[in-house]
Amino acid sequence: MAILNNKLSQQQYAENFSDIHPPFETHNAALVEANRCLFCYDAPCIKSCPTGINIPKFIKQITSDNIKGSAHTIFLSNIMGAGCSKVCPVEKLCEGSCVFNLMDEPPIPIAKLQRYSTEKAMQQKWQLFERKKSAGKKVAVVGAGPAGLSCAHVLSREGIDVTIYEKENKAGGLMTYGIAAYKVTPEFCEDEVNYILSLGGIEIKYKQELGKNISLAELQKKYDAVFLGMGVGLANRLYIPGEDLEGVEDAIKFIYDLRDKGFSAIPVGDKVAVIGMGMTAIDAATQARRLGAKEVTMLYRRTQEEMPCTQHELDIAMLDGCKIIWLAAPKELKGVNGKVSEIICSIMQLGEPDVSGRKSPVETGATFSLEVDMVIKAAGQMPFEQLIIDNEIMNNKGKIVINNSETNIKGVFAGGDAVNGGREVVDAVQAGKDAAAAILSYIFHAKR
Ligand code: SF4
Repeated sequence: MAILNNKLSQQQYAENFSDIHPPFETHNAALVEANRCLFCYDAPCIKSCPTGINIPKFIKQITSDNIKGSAHTIFLSNIMGAGCSKVCPVEKLCEGSCVFNLMDEPPIPIAKLQRYSTEKAMQQKWQLFERKKSAGKKVAVVGAGPAGLSCAHVLSREGIDVTIYEKENKAGGLMTYGIAAYKVTPEFCEDEVNYILSLGGIEIKYKQELGKNISLAELQKKYDAVFLGMGVGLANRLYIPGEDLEGVEDAIKFIYDLRDKGFSAIPVGDKVAVIGMGMTAIDAATQARRLGAKEVTMLYRRTQEEMPCTQHELDIAMLDGCKIIWLAAPKELKGVNGKVSEIICSIMQLGEPDVSGRKSPVETGATFSLEVDMVIKAAGQMPFEQLIIDNEIMNNKGKIVINNSETNIKGVFAGGDAVNGGREVVDAVQAGKDAAAAILSYIFHAKR
């Protein structure tokens, strides 16, 4: 067993990481599906979209060949509508609530139709929004992820000059660095960011990190308002013996490296255990398999009923050949010559519901062990707690506390994962919009 990179040929990498959701091949194929939509009154699909996209409207616009209008409808509610059409867990959002499910018929493929319109807009470089003339106001945004870009786009449309401070050398945040490459390619993410920036009025300063190169006090002094959308950091620690052995990896870093350095540069083990059952865990497990791991086992301390990922995500992992062990919690990692070689797990059972409302896992006292050469931790992410405390921002275990998007510091707003601890891209987009509305009201109406 060995952790090695370059396990596959270039052709195998290309096949393994090709787009998992192919687009419509013809306009007619899109029309057939669009024409199935019932254009429901009080459409449940709109209510289940966190950004409230008017779904029946954009579908109707496709049927009347108004693709430009359709893309505008989508981007008006969600400027990352193209990326969201590829990464949203639609089976538990819009498509999951489509009325066709009640008739035991396949739901309208909303995401595929959304992709149809938005990709065309991006490819054709349609400029669907006009920036109002400058209002003479400046806002700083920390983090060029979905929350920051969404906030910046709304503000710029209103004539605000926005400067985004991004610690990486690319924008897109979670979309660019934190999602499986077979869902969104790095090239797509770059195109999406460029499309958003083509509005004008938004400047991104790269390699600028709050608390290192820039301070909140400086930003407050230079700008009329500040938006904090820096997301969350690395995976939670497991706090078990052996956690620092060689071969124990952080899922966020694993996915980040894969996207940043390219497939062949990323070492992967032969026998990999992934701890967790959220979207990040699924992305790490499936990509480990696709990089050439012979065996990938996912360990989750609860059962399928409580898992945070969707059934669709679980199906992807299982189709990729990942094994799933339910009711298993890591207890200890053992190693040989400093390298991880075995994971010992407690066998759990379900007890009373905890604060999350899910049944809590309780140790049975029994254990089992697996031979491994790599362990990937994907059991939630840590907020930037110290940074937030250092800046005296009110928080709950590192998650920023807000009231109508504003923090306890006047003129400093926040949203996205830094507030909720880590949810979907589409939730961050909405948080950015909410914050932009609050910032506009603060800049133009609040007594300061
Ligand atoms: Fe169309 Fe389904 Fe939405 Fe109804 S619920 S408007 S059928 S996509």
